[in-house]
Amino acid sequence: MIQLQSTLRQLRLSGLLQSLDVRLQEAAAGRLGHGEFLELIFQDELNVRHQRMLARRTKAADFRALKTLEDFDFDVQPAVRQQLAALASGGFLTEARNVVLLGPPGTGKSHLAIGLGITAANHGHRVLFATATDWVTRLTDAHRAGRLPTELARLRRYGLIIIDEVGYLPFEQDAANLFFQLVSSRYEHASLILTSNLPFSSWGGVFGDQAVAAAMIDRIVHHADVLTLKGASYRLRNRGLDTLPSIRTQDTTN
Ligand code: ADP
Ligand code: MG
Repeated sequence: MIQLQSTLRQLRLSGLLQSLDVRLQEAAAGRLGHGEFLELIFQDELNVRHQRMLARRTKAADFRALKTLEDFDFDVQPAVRQQLAALASGGFLTEARNVVLLGPPGTGKSHLAIGLGITAANHGHRVLFATATDWVTRLTDAHRAGRLPTELARLRRYGLIIIDEVGYLPFEQDAANLFFQLVSSRYEHASLILTSNLPFSSWGGVFGDQAVAAAMIDRIVHHADVLTLKGASYRLRNRGLDTLPSIRTQDTTN
């Protein structure tokens, strides 16, 4: 046994090592045939590797909170239930399709973006999450250092990039151009998820340039699922605040 444990360590089969005692007991109790035993111990190894991969990818993605699709109450947003179920299969990632989540504040855009991000990690994709403002900072830094093409090429290795909160802050013209380059470099190559509290018609104002915004939206939406969330903020539910005039205004402007 000692020898076996050391052999498994050398082979880097720590997942198998973890479950070995239990599987050996099961086998000794006559519950497992040789083939079944082998199949199970290697499956144990695969499961442990998968969990490790998921944990590594999830950490690297830099999600601001861990939110899963399972945690999402679709009774509040019944209109997007079916679209989300289709997206959860991960097919959009292999087809390099995009997802755009629109809706007023607090309706679950970031939650669903992160949930889809975790699903993507689970499917083995590399994921990176940041707000639009953070992306602009990152791209501006790369541009100033003369390594924008390198950075865009590096980012193309990510199956999914999430751009949260497009529209909370307007961009400088330079920033809008950098953003456009990010979108272009991923077009028909790898997926983007964007969230925004503004309808597309208001993006021109955000990017300070109608032409840049139009060209960008064109590329984003060409192969995209656009999901529109509705209603009052989930954060304020059951607080009697959803009848405040300010909340109603936010609802009707989006
Ligand atoms: P948005 O990005 O649209 O402003 P968030 O995704 O940040 O909204 O949602 C605000 C908070 O409410 C988060 O904590 C989120 O997990 C929660 N939330 C929103 N909608 C739902 C929902 N339908 N089911 C469960 N939690 C939700
Ligand atoms: Mg948000």
